[in-house]
Amino acid sequence: MASGEVRTIINERPWEMRVPAFRVFGNLYFVGNANCASWIVDTSVGPILFDTNYPTMAHMEIQSIWEAGFDPRKIIAIFHSHGHYDHFGTTELIRQLSGAKVYLGAEDAKMFRERPELALAAGSACPINLFVPDVEINDGDVFTFGDTTIRCVHTPGHCPGATSYFFPVTDGKQTLKAALHGGAGLNALVREFREKYGVDWRQDYIDNMNKVMDEDVDIFLGNHTSQNGLLDKLPKMTADYNPFIDKGAWKAFLIKMRDKAKEVE
Ligand SMILES: [Zn+2]
Repeated sequence: MASGEVRTIINERPWEMRVPAFRVFGNLYFVGNANCASWIVDTSVGPILFDTNYPTMAHMEIQSIWEAGFDPRKIIAIFHSHGHYDHFGTTELIRQLSGAKVYLGAEDAKMFRERPELALAAGSACPINLFVPDVEINDGDVFTFGDTTIRCVHTPGHCPGATSYFFPVTDGKQTLKAALHGGAGLNALVREFREKYGVDWRQDYIDNMNKVMDEDVDIFLGNHTSQNGLLDKLPKMTADYNPFIDKGAWKAFLIKMRDKAKEVE
């Protein structure tokens, strides 16, 4: 295979492309790849991981956790934005390595039991078993890890148990409000998906974008890198400028996606 062909494959398959782990702000780190996001919040009692990437990218996820300065065996908790395979691909491996407690929206735990095909709907290139969470999250649940409290808001639409997380991050001098949205892909709303799986979540999606739109968010974290423009923002970071600190980004994204959802036929 010529090198040009290899380059084409990399460009066309961003879910296989590595992005070096980096500190977003203070105790918040990115440990995902070019397509799927994964985040670490380093609390006073240990690092918490949000989402664990594609099952085929397990090696990258582990490497990125090390690269961010953490030992994967010391992760204390794993939260999931929602129960699709591209967000829990390394969950069972990291749980086995670390004994981390695993959290998932209650409606997605139910989906795993009753409609497991929906968790793999986009089609995983790698066989993966669904997992049983240690904790099923309900709307409004709050979990405290030392100095960090995570507020959970049920935001179904893309997936029945999609959960958005709101929590403080700090560099020791300044504390900012970070938020990870539970799931914004429109792929689960389109006619083909609705007819194939016998579901219609369009109104849920719109209602739940409205539900959390007015949250006060300084740092918007997507579960895919395209959502907060991570690949564009990363090269713009300097010692004096952090493009991830952007008060308008959360609401602008939610409005954009809500309005797109209204157009889905
Ligand atoms: Zn998804």
